[in-house]
Amino acid sequence: MRNIPMVDLKGQYARIKPEIDEAIQAVVDSAYFIKGPQVKSFEDNLAAYLNVKHVIGCANGTDALQVALMSLNLEAGDEVIVPSFTYVATAEVIALLGLTPVMIDVDPVSFNVTSELIEEAITSRTKVIVPVHLFGQCCDMEPIMTLAAQHSLYVIEDNAQAIGADYTLSTGKLTKAGTQGHIGCTSFFPSKNLGCYGDGGAIFTNDDQLASTIRMIANHGQRIKYHHDLIGCNSRLDTIQAAVLDVKLNHLDDFGKARADAASYYTQELAEVDGLATPHLSSFSTHVFHQYTMRIHHSRRNQLQAHLKEAGIANAIYYPVPLYKQLAYQTDANKNLHLDQTELLCAEVLSIPIHTEMNHDIQDYVIKTIKAFFLQ
Ligand SMILES: *Cc1c(COP(=O)(O)O)cnc(C)c1O
Repeated sequence: MRNIPMVDLKGQYARIKPEIDEAIQAVVDSAYFIKGPQVKSFEDNLAAYLNVKHVIGCANGTDALQVALMSLNLEAGDEVIVPSFTYVATAEVIALLGLTPVMIDVDPVSFNVTSELIEEAITSRTKVIVPVHLFGQCCDMEPIMTLAAQHSLYVIEDNAQAIGADYTLSTGKLTKAGTQGHIGCTSFFPSKNLGCYGDGGAIFTNDDQLASTIRMIANHGQRIKYHHDLIGCNSRLDTIQAAVLDVKLNHLDDFGKARADAASYYTQELAEVDGLATPHLSSFSTHVFHQYTMRIHHSRRNQLQAHLKEAGIANAIYYPVPLYKQLAYQTDANKNLHLDQTELLCAEVLSIPIHTEMNHDIQDYVIKTIKAFFLQ
């Protein structure tokens, strides 16, 4: 039986091994494990790639969101609007800081929040919107930024899954995912599109003041050593991880292309299959396919999942439970919440293997297995 994994980090490493090994060895030789020169180099290179003024490395993507929220002078009970169809980290940091996550529905076609859905949830206590660019494709940010400006709200983009995607403004100008909001956050978890060899994250902004506050907060609230002006935390991007990322950043666009090519082959072969919907491509954003996520109709998702498993094909459900149904989030507001599209997606989504090392041999096997299921 074949064994097709969701990601192939070993195969990717084998292709870039000499560069990576050299970069890691240089850090080990220097013994400059914390705040080594590779951290600044990577922050500068990522800032140039994203065309954003400031990039601040941190320990992981969850910390990036937490530090971003901490920089905004929010008060207990302030409301932060988040999608209910996302990874828990997005809402977790909000609750952890004593803020109130207000969970909203998503568009069932793009899987993302829209300005219309956000607008319905705005109250006098709303302070922040956190759009998540789910699976590798941007939310439509321009109307979200207009809405935020009308209500004087901050926007923190959770860009953990869409780094490298292009968002097109109505002027036709191309911008990078995560750079429209006041603050953008990303994760370098190994399986993310720009992944390191452990944990890592980054925060980006064009606002000098926010950048300086964010840097302080991630470093125990200090600007001058042993002088703590703010309550901060310890959230650093390790030098070894920065060195790995600096190498991998040079490959990010090629990696993105490999994923997009694999996705378009899947879509070409599966689009006509009755009973499933292949991922939608929006007009305003490219898709970097952190995940290739289909919707499986007629309550057949779990059967297909078992069929794929039987054939040795890994697959995953991102995400099986709406955030507001999670035990940790049973507030009075959430107990009575029913969001139709989120619940539909939790019942229908299925992600199949996609990574930088895909080839037609692997994909033909996956496609054949899926087609066989729907013909039986
Ligand atoms: C991965 C991810 C995070 C958290 O990143 P970590 O580095 O694992 O802490 C946050 N939000 C989304 C949407 C993610 O996919």
